[in-house]
Amino acid sequence: MEQVLLLNITYEPLKIIDWKKAITLLFLGKVEVLEEYSRELHSVSFTIKLPSVVRLLWMVKRPKTAVKFSRQNIYARDQYRCQYCWRQFSPEDLTYDHVIPKSQGGKTKWGNIVTCCIQCNRKKGGRIPAEARMKLIRKPSRPKWLPALRVTIGFKAVPQSWQDYLYWNVELIE
Ligand SMILES: [Zn+2]
Repeated sequence: MEQVLLLNITYEPLKIIDWKKAITLLFLGKVEVLEEYSRELHSVSFTIKLPSVVRLLWMVKRPKTAVKFSRQNIYARDQYRCQYCWRQFSPEDLTYDHVIPKSQGGKTKWGNIVTCCIQCNRKKGGRIPAEARMKLIRKPSRPKWLPALRVTIGFKAVPQSWQDYLYWNVELIE
């Protein structure tokens, strides 16, 4: 069944809701429809296209929580890009890399961990980037803010019509 991306009034993705909930919000005048699926909903009194992205017409404050240090969140911070070759991968083809290797005192912390593809990881081995003649494209840091959605939905499972909105969000990382 089609799911609907719910955006805050600021266009920040809030969560994924089912289409029935989206229609209810629409009829209560609480959301506007930004994107639609091609499928239509028919009832006795109306026919509408199924919404795929809706935006709240009032502000919802999200609780500020620290971003958990996890593999998924590291990938999300780095936009699923290897930080050495800048290519984008799906999570199963990624790993994370200690910029300064553990053996040289590198810590397992936001500032020393980057997303890395298997190939670059192998090439780098247990060395610092300079020793491996590799260049880190972006200095890692703790993300101040992270789109929760990016973390909970798989990279490939995102409907086409959502991508502009998720992308907008991802651009805010740093
Ligand atoms: Zn790479």
